[in-house]
Amino acid sequence: MTDTYKRAVFVAPGEIRIDELPIPEPGPRQVLVKVKACALCTWEQRVFTGEEKFYPLAGGHEVSGELVKVGQYVYTDAQIGDKVMASPLIRCGYCESCRRGMDNICDNMRKSFRETDVPGPAGLAEYILLDDYQLYQTTNGASYEEISLTEPLACVLRSVRKARVQRADNVVVVGAGVMGMLHLLLCKQAGARVIVSEIDPTRAAFARQMGADAIINPLEKPFAEQVRGLTHGRGADVIFCAVSIAAAVEQSIDAAAKGGRIHVYASIHPRSARITIDPNPFHSNEIVLTGSMSQDKDDVLQAVRLISRGLVDVKPFISLVLPFDRLVEALQAAIRPDTYRVIVTM
Ligand SMILES: [Zn+2]
Ligand SMILES: [Zn+2]
Repeated sequence: MTDTYKRAVFVAPGEIRIDELPIPEPGPRQVLVKVKACALCTWEQRVFTGEEKFYPLAGGHEVSGELVKVGQYVYTDAQIGDKVMASPLIRCGYCESCRRGMDNICDNMRKSFRETDVPGPAGLAEYILLDDYQLYQTTNGASYEEISLTEPLACVLRSVRKARVQRADNVVVVGAGVMGMLHLLLCKQAGARVIVSEIDPTRAAFARQMGADAIINPLEKPFAEQVRGLTHGRGADVIFCAVSIAAAVEQSIDAAAKGGRIHVYASIHPRSARITIDPNPFHSNEIVLTGSMSQDKDDVLQAVRLISRGLVDVKPFISLVLPFDRLVEALQAAIRPDTYRVIVTM
């Protein structure tokens, strides 16, 4: 009899099925990782609540674990027993996007490269089979829980890099969730002054504690007016929209400085939402409206190093750690507004 492992599958709103499967043998250019921690991202939360109906889904893409088996033709410095980060995002390497340096939005990211019965990254499981390029070595310095937050940090590294945050820039981060807070940390490290826009008083207080230079509440006074008030009337050099609300993007256009960048970091929901914009500031003030999604392989490498060397402390964003057999409870906690990241451990 072969040994088996457990894997969680989202099958309907609020419903999780636990499959018992044989532990796979890594083939050529594959590795097997024993999952130790998996953080619950907004995507899994939306599938759990039914806001995004993607069923069945083998969820879990913020994964850390122990390297247990290495297949043929895998060239890595990581040793069996090492603490590793698993990046299950598919980067085929040969589609046009990958070849043009955008492997974060690989044309084949939704296609299956393996004989899997259920689509999805499948990190909410006791084992995960990876292709060689999906494995990242750590320095073994940080905890499994911290390493599981590599993926969200990598997304934010990309966001901050693409928005070209400069020293002494006036930056506004809209939304003080985990993603907003990681933007705050990285922008502060880059030498910017950071204003956080948040309506929830508890989150606003946390943002201040995490180093925000100013906090604004867009429900009290118009957003653009407050941003201009804090920037000598100039507006913000960079505005990160880390909330799913379309109106936040619309308001940001009015709050951007000359040459300012408005960066749509979060996906907007409902997906049918539309905004109305005045095209003139794009011409007269040379503002830029852009965004980013996921991370490329370089972003992941940087994020792993930042966390494992203690250069970015993600511990304040870990709200709760629960064992895998309490996954439903963990998801229920993750969707509450008073939690940041909830992590399950195997
Ligand atoms: Zn994520
Ligand atoms: Zn590709």
